[in-house]
Amino acid sequence: MTPPLIELKHLTRRFQVKRNLSITAVSDVSLSISAGEIVCLVGESGCGKTTTGKMIAGLLKPSEGEILFNGQDISHLKKDEWEKYRLGVQMIHQDPYASLNPSHTIYDIVSAPLKAHRKTGSDAATRAAAIELLESVDLTPASDFLDKFPHQLSGGQRQRVSVARALTVNPKFIIADEAVSMVDVSIRISLLNTLLKLKEKNGLAVLFITHDLALAKYFAWDGRVGVMYLGKLVEVAPARQLVEAPQHPYTKVLLSAIPEADPERTRHKERIELRSMDVPSLLRLPSGCAFHPRCPYFAGEKCEKVIPQLTFFNDDSAVACHPVAEKRLLQIRN
Ligand code: SF4
Repeated sequence: MTPPLIELKHLTRRFQVKRNLSITAVSDVSLSISAGEIVCLVGESGCGKTTTGKMIAGLLKPSEGEILFNGQDISHLKKDEWEKYRLGVQMIHQDPYASLNPSHTIYDIVSAPLKAHRKTGSDAATRAAAIELLESVDLTPASDFLDKFPHQLSGGQRQRVSVARALTVNPKFIIADEAVSMVDVSIRISLLNTLLKLKEKNGLAVLFITHDLALAKYFAWDGRVGVMYLGKLVEVAPARQLVEAPQHPYTKVLLSAIPEADPERTRHKERIELRSMDVPSLLRLPSGCAFHPRCPYFAGEKCEKVIPQLTFFNDDSAVACHPVAEKRLLQIRN
């Protein structure tokens, strides 16, 4: 059987905040992503989704757990294999303003990795490759952009340049971290459609990190969504299944808060209210299920005392919630 492209096994990341104090930003996350697959990680800010993305991109070392790439533990890669891995996994950051060097032209930005990794031979070939890359991200005609500086482009155009730069090294896996959240709402969908087109054309796997479940729903409709809460993955499922039949109480709350296109439907939509609006601090995580102080389906002592483990029902879907897991396992046994 072919191993998944990326497999996270019990991934944990702690940060030291004071001499004797640390927080666990990511705790025991297990997830696999196949070649060509889209997976969205969704959750409130501080839930650990960006830290997870950074560990996969090799920008942060896990405190515990493993990241496997094509079945190989990346912490055991030799120097040349590690460099290949870093090229194969590219990250697109949230802020297109900060991620592009303001003193370089768009041609300099896109051609630098092509030259550094000897992807093209002559100057003419590099220019032709830069043009092709810009056109692949819908910056057309590319010749209008090559000699411009980042400040002469709109936010959406700058983010397209970031995508083009990530593609210069023919990655297998793209991590898009809130990649459309800083661009105008009007061009978000167009940018997402460009990413979807590139995924199809280049067979890319994409980990799309967002706090916006409505965006995740749109982008990963044919993929899967993982929901994170206070460092833990609490539910993962195919997007359609997660939207139509959410299992975890936190997923239900998030979905009930998404406005519908029809204001009338939004007005009459059932809102699932949290028991508390306060998000607990990572410095003082609640005992048992970390969601229990807010959970509208709180089920007593077990929720308060026992940490629910992520229970997989099949390769695609899993939930970390005591009553939900017990009910699903009972259904499977019967
Ligand atoms: Fe809610 Fe209990 Fe499930 Fe946690 S384990 S999400 S508190 S029902």
